[in-house]
Amino acid sequence: MSKTYGFETLSIHAGAGPDPATGARALPIYQTTAYAFDDADHAAALFNLQTVGFIYSRLTNPTNAALETRLATLEGGRGCTVTASGHSAQVLALFPLMQPGDEVVASSRLYGGSLQQMKNTYPKFGWKAHIVDADTPDNFKRALTDTTKAFFIESLANPGGVISDLEAIARIADDAGIPLVVDNTMATPWLCKPIDYGATLVIHSTTKFLSGTGTAMGGAVVDSGKFDWAKSGKFPSLAGPEPAYHGLNFFETFGDMAYTFHSHAVGLRDLGPTQAPMNAWLTMLGMETLGLRMERHCANALEVAQWLERHPAVAWVNYAGLPSNKYNALARKYLPKGAGSIFTFGVKGGYEVGMKVVDSVDLFSHVANIGDAKSLIIHPASTTHRQLTDEQRTAAGAGPDVIRLSIGIETVEDIIADLAQALEKATGA
Ligand SMILES: *Cc1c(COP(=O)(O)O)cnc(C)c1O
Repeated sequence: MSKTYGFETLSIHAGAGPDPATGARALPIYQTTAYAFDDADHAAALFNLQTVGFIYSRLTNPTNAALETRLATLEGGRGCTVTASGHSAQVLALFPLMQPGDEVVASSRLYGGSLQQMKNTYPKFGWKAHIVDADTPDNFKRALTDTTKAFFIESLANPGGVISDLEAIARIADDAGIPLVVDNTMATPWLCKPIDYGATLVIHSTTKFLSGTGTAMGGAVVDSGKFDWAKSGKFPSLAGPEPAYHGLNFFETFGDMAYTFHSHAVGLRDLGPTQAPMNAWLTMLGMETLGLRMERHCANALEVAQWLERHPAVAWVNYAGLPSNKYNALARKYLPKGAGSIFTFGVKGGYEVGMKVVDSVDLFSHVANIGDAKSLIIHPASTTHRQLTDEQRTAAGAGPDVIRLSIGIETVEDIIADLAQALEKATGA
């Protein structure tokens, strides 16, 4: 598919032409676990990675491959691997880079579940996550050690509306000879393409805006294809003989596709977090309207944020799209089309009143999700960020009075009317 097409065209057509076997115009769901080999030589060539094709759906599947092509195209990357969830994408992304004893330096503003994964589960693999305040990019430089194998940030962070200075952090990663991994879930490539600013790997929870209607779990790892895995000698799984694949040197053999081939041939093979083809299909369907939805999500969110900022029961609104926000300059640089649709605000009265607001909404759904066409609300301190310490919660923008909204694409007057009645019930204002 020509790279000269516009974003909206690519989000409908990339990866999904008419089915070559039947002419079916919509993408078929290849609901199969295995694929017949032409003959014994063909089977051997497939297993040796000498020819590209399908063996078994844990590794590759044509419906998943269509989604991989579309995501790589939209992010401006070289290859992609889709996974069962965003969290499995994070593990799969680091898996080719890390050995026991290795470290990742990550932002303290990450999604609560990601901090949880890094802090408590990575040590079980012998990996260490060094958490730093990403508002000061130099903190990444200060945290570097000989065993640092990656930096990990979110372009736009959930739930605090924090925006990372991608270029500054990418430069530090580049000087250190390590890849920058960017979770682009909240921004989507419609708002921001981290590879343009120097990211090596972009990961997604496709569960959110990409599928767009709260129907399918999924994750993705997109590789820029630009990183030299051999240069520093720090990445033996990619640029040395890989014992997990009979000594194959992936970088020597596959060049700019080395990382993506490794993720399928070793990562998905041995860890197994494969996406269901039905979910890949739902995500492909959702992505056809990504641009339209994001435009409306952002316009609605800005209007709701401006309305809340004027409301007497509201102590503060943290939306990077507002000129009053400390991240507004970074938003204008990295997310010029809009600051996304997820933001937080504080109600006067703290924890108790916050829970009352959540209990009083009618149109909003009280769920632990974001990026649905429907408007969603949650009180992070008592739910998504419950397992963190007070200090970690505040660092992640999820203090006691914080309410998180994921603004949907409904009629904006209806969204505002629902919040108005809920705030009135909870506070009398
Ligand atoms: C939801 C989310 C994840 C985890 O994704 P799942 O699909 O729920 O596993 C990771 N990062 C961000 C920013 C998220 O919003």
